[in-house]
Amino acid sequence: MLEILFLLLPIAAGYGWYMGRRSILQRDSQKSKKLSRDYFTGLNFLLSNESDKAVDLFISMLDVDDETIDTHLSLGSLFRKRGEVDRSIRIHQNLIARPNLTAEQRDIAMMELGKDYMAAGFYDRAEEIFLNLVNQDDHSEEAESQLISIYQVTKEWQNAIDVTKKLPKKRQQVFKVTTAHFYCQLADQATDMLVKIKKLQLAIKQDVSCGRAWLGLANIYLDSDQIKECKDSLLQLIDADIALFPDSINIAKQVYRQSSDSEGYEQLLSLALKQGAGASVAIALAEHQIAKNNSDSAEAMMLDNLYRHPTMKGFQHLMKLHIKQAEDGKAKQSLSMLEKLVEQQIKFRPGYRCRECGFPAHALYWHCPSCKHWGSIKRIKGLDGE
Ligand SMILES: [Zn+2]
Repeated sequence: MLEILFLLLPIAAGYGWYMGRRSILQRDSQKSKKLSRDYFTGLNFLLSNESDKAVDLFISMLDVDDETIDTHLSLGSLFRKRGEVDRSIRIHQNLIARPNLTAEQRDIAMMELGKDYMAAGFYDRAEEIFLNLVNQDDHSEEAESQLISIYQVTKEWQNAIDVTKKLPKKRQQVFKVTTAHFYCQLADQATDMLVKIKKLQLAIKQDVSCGRAWLGLANIYLDSDQIKECKDSLLQLIDADIALFPDSINIAKQVYRQSSDSEGYEQLLSLALKQGAGASVAIALAEHQIAKNNSDSAEAMMLDNLYRHPTMKGFQHLMKLHIKQAEDGKAKQSLSMLEKLVEQQIKFRPGYRCRECGFPAHALYWHCPSCKHWGSIKRIKGLDGE
């Protein structure tokens, strides 16, 4: 009898193991059923626009399973993108409050919370978070970019420059155009002329092709009667950013008039035109030649320019020249009417466009209001522009 009992022992052990395993599997299956049921309920709330209930449910589920952290991060980011920042803040704050989060998970959640604060306009709170994350190797790059974005919004240009200075050399190259504009912003804020010049020179040191800085310098030198420096800056502008040269025509006209250097003005405009400065410069040159009683060469130059680069502006100016020379009569009246029509068309059309996002503008902006790029808004080239 005892032997039979001994023989049954392995069977009993096996049965016990089987029953135990079955109960664990059942428990797991019940847990996962509850989890998926809760998720479906949560999704249902989301789809039926009951976001508040969905958020509460998802947050309560966080206590159930650690593996849902990624889902919560995605959900938080989704709410932020939809502009429901208060909800994304709640989700990320709840994540961070969990004591058993790994350091990596906590940093990711902090980064997301920082972005929430930025989206909500709490720049000081966002700055605090990113200043902490900037020292974490895995997140420093993103935190630096976020800090630069904050300082642009709060117009703390020196702080933005300080962040870019700490970047590795390779990343500094990526930000060189932007940093040059930060220095130009500082120059705009400064009241002292020498400080303005210093900041603009620092901008050029960052990015020698920063046309804004050369234009700014030309303007300051004109105001302070530094004729030679002003002319040099205009020449540098041609090399740095020819697309910006048409915006310096008034400065050029004044500085060459002050020094009675009519020849120099003509040479400067001709050089700019050769480098592709466009219709406005051709018109300025034509006006200068007409003022010197040289209408024939002005007309020939305009015609040649129109032939190579047809533009509405150039066409309108040529019509003006012909109207001046035409004898009074019906033909002159018709030409005048036509010229007015073209002029109206030009006025209605934007003169500038962002080369990054295509944002149209009637005036020159250094910072694109649409895509937030620096120095990307330029005069429109082609038939409608230069
Ligand atoms: Zn843009």
